[in-house]
Amino acid sequence: MTRTERAWQALDGVLDPEVPALSVRELGIVRDVIDHGDGLEVVLTPTYSGCPATEVIEQNVLSAIEAEGLGPARATLRRAPAWTTDWITEEGKRKLREYGIAPPHSAIPAEAGTQGIRFFRRMPETIPCPHCGSPQTERLSAFGSTACKALYRCLACREPFEYFKPI
Ligand SMILES: [Zn+2]
Repeated sequence: MTRTERAWQALDGVLDPEVPALSVRELGIVRDVIDHGDGLEVVLTPTYSGCPATEVIEQNVLSAIEAEGLGPARATLRRAPAWTTDWITEEGKRKLREYGIAPPHSAIPAEAGTQGIRFFRRMPETIPCPHCGSPQTERLSAFGSTACKALYRCLACREPFEYFKPI
């Protein structure tokens, strides 16, 4: 394995501080790992600008690479293009559901890619319950434990859950 491949593997073990069910890699915030010969550069795109977790993530990423004996390394931030929930991997979405959080729908509007035909978005959008899969859910609040999530309740199993809002 190359040093870059080993670094990617080490990043699989770095969990997101806000959603500890997901690694930073599954969240899609690690954009690149570059081997400069005299050190590794890890390119990160923070989920939300000004997110206080970004510094923690940078530290954890560098510690993980150091622990693997792959240092020296540095982290750089790439803010454009902006992070989108579409970058969360399929495995990441599955883990979110297991964790009890409904994964985000695609942030790409339904009409994107069609020519001349516009489809209306289904209103209200169906957010299936991550516990029992029932589509019978209602939104309790636009904000959950963090601004990026909304609070829902399942009408079938009565369990509350959070929905990771697409951006
Ligand atoms: Zn349910």
